[in-house]
Amino acid sequence: MREANPVISLRDLRVSYGEIEILHGIHFDVKAGETLVILGGSGSGKSTLLRTLVGLEKPSSGQIWINGQDIAAISHEELYEIRKKTGMSFQGSALFGSMTVGENVALPLREHTKLEDSTIEIMLRLKLEQVGLAGFEYHMPSQLSGGMKKRAAVARALAMDPEILFFDEPSAGLDPIIAAGIDQLILELKKAFHMTIIVVTHELASAFLIADRMVLIDKGNVVAIGTTEEMRASAQPRVRQFLDRVPEPDVEGELDYLQTLTEQYRRHA
Ligand code: ADP
Ligand code: MG
Repeated sequence: MREANPVISLRDLRVSYGEIEILHGIHFDVKAGETLVILGGSGSGKSTLLRTLVGLEKPSSGQIWINGQDIAAISHEELYEIRKKTGMSFQGSALFGSMTVGENVALPLREHTKLEDSTIEIMLRLKLEQVGLAGFEYHMPSQLSGGMKKRAAVARALAMDPEILFFDEPSAGLDPIIAAGIDQLILELKKAFHMTIIVVTHELASAFLIADRMVLIDKGNVVAIGTTEEMRASAQPRVRQFLDRVPEPDVEGELDYLQTLTEQYRRHA
């Protein structure tokens, strides 16, 4: 199979908050249809990198290419078209507390499309179904558990049928069983829709389960990039230091385990 052009290319990307540079020249590609996990300790710049990729922070220098377009060099309209094809699930879910779950999911559709209300209604129900939240459209976010809020945020990120999906710490703050359900959801999205998925996490077990490739970031620099196997086999001291904090997960057994967990979860939902 011919290698497709990268969906995202970062070239010497630098990002600062005021005088302080946080990302010091990030350089890597994201391939079409892969799940790339961005790993790194707290404060290493992972969220800043994602926020920059979705346009919430401006690079101080360097380039971001998305689908072959340098996003700093294109028109407002072209950028808007690219934005429509990306979905983001934020670290803290970021649902609007004063709107129902359904209204939250419908927001991108109302903002980016001229679809009829009745069509939007059908689409938001489909998206909620995809994340295991069928029937919750009239609930308020405050009535949902932590894991359900994350799922609702994923449904909203899926609203526009994005080609690229970003997740910032999708399982942070969730208990292990619910977190496993979110991992399973990401695996399903990848399998069913062949989306390009970029996940920031510091959970190693989750990372090894969902990733095709991984990028390790430390203090605003890329330390290593490679497939899960390459990372596992890496002799680079900083990679070993990061990966050996906890025992390596038994991915085979874990997949079966996750399968049963999510089936149970579905039955109870
Ligand atoms: P991570 O997601 O890897 O934990 P972040 O990207 O959130 O890291 O943060 C990287 C560094 O940037 C940290 O030192 C953090 O304190 C700083 N930082 C993050 N957001 C801001 C901001 N809005 N203004 C100033 N500094 C920030
Ligand atoms: Mg973060």
